[in-house]
Amino acid sequence: MGRIPYLLCLILTFSTPFAANRLWTTVEGKTQLGELFEVEGDEVGIRIEEREYRFLINRFIPSDRQFIRDWSRILRCHRCSERLGNSPIKEAGPYKFHEQCFTCLVCNEGFQGGEKLKRDEWGGLVHSNHFHKAKVCDSCSKIISPRMLSTKQILKDGRINCLSCASDGVYDVKRMEEVRRRVWPTLSSLGISLPKGNVNIRVVAKQVIDKQALKINARGNLRGLTLTSYKIVSDGKFTRTTFDHDIFILHGMPHIECSSVLAHEYAHIWLNERFIEDIPAVVEGFCNLVSEATLFKEKGKLASIILENMKQSDNPVYGAGYRRMKQRLSVLGWPALLAEMKRKSKPPTLQ
Ligand SMILES: [Zn+2]
Ligand SMILES: [Zn+2]
Ligand SMILES: [Zn+2]
Ligand SMILES: [Zn+2]
Repeated sequence: MGRIPYLLCLILTFSTPFAANRLWTTVEGKTQLGELFEVEGDEVGIRIEEREYRFLINRFIPSDRQFIRDWSRILRCHRCSERLGNSPIKEAGPYKFHEQCFTCLVCNEGFQGGEKLKRDEWGGLVHSNHFHKAKVCDSCSKIISPRMLSTKQILKDGRINCLSCASDGVYDVKRMEEVRRRVWPTLSSLGISLPKGNVNIRVVAKQVIDKQALKINARGNLRGLTLTSYKIVSDGKFTRTTFDHDIFILHGMPHIECSSVLAHEYAHIWLNERFIEDIPAVVEGFCNLVSEATLFKEKGKLASIILENMKQSDNPVYGAGYRRMKQRLSVLGWPALLAEMKRKSKPPTLQ
């Protein structure tokens, strides 16, 4: 960072002591200027160069953690993060607001009390009858004010991300490789072994996934897709099967969601390489269990929202299938569940 931005930060620090950039230091020693705007459970929201990031509080050195504790001890407005002080306070669930900040994210009118409101998991509020005009984050379901929406939040396939999901989005193969490394320890701990075949991971737009999905008759709100092809080679004595897998992952999903989708796709590969067949609810339910295991490893709020969506889903395949397989897992445990799945194997035979 050059000299001028540093000076600007200093000026900011002195002019607005409670909404200011400060230097953050991680336990690994990395430093970054950013403005604290939210503390939620184990997570902290920090604005860095107009982007919003969420970090686990324990990523920071003790003096930063003390700063976070002091900051969150002050009663703050959920909308603007400023101190609430003696001015009148408005409340919606666990969230408190300045009177002037207690407004609809769509029409910006203040709430009078008594009107029907719709609230997201993040404390965003709109008039119920304005909800259809609101933009909602494709990953975390946060309501986004249409006035605040910037072009960088609109993905090329038309999906919309909130600022923090957009900042954490996985858009390329390099970031995807980080995600891949993040999910494998979890998959291995369940007993899922590494694929034998080649795996080609692509980060693509929604239209690409939908088009590829036609090949295997899959439909719905797909976030990932796996296509497996195999070859059986025999020289009369020995038979050998080789596999090629293409994983398509929706681009721009935040890390945590991307990990859960990638884990689901690797579960398909594990099934495909064993020619394990069953009805869609069992297959997708099993893959969602693997997905769930990666979400359990994450502490953040986004992970619990994705988990909750999976639990509540009324989709007969992904939702009901997941609940059915979760029941099975609670009876059997992972080793016996994997063994049970393997018994459904129907390898093709050469004619
Ligand atoms: Zn406020
Ligand atoms: Zn409104
Ligand atoms: Zn979001
Ligand atoms: Zn699937």
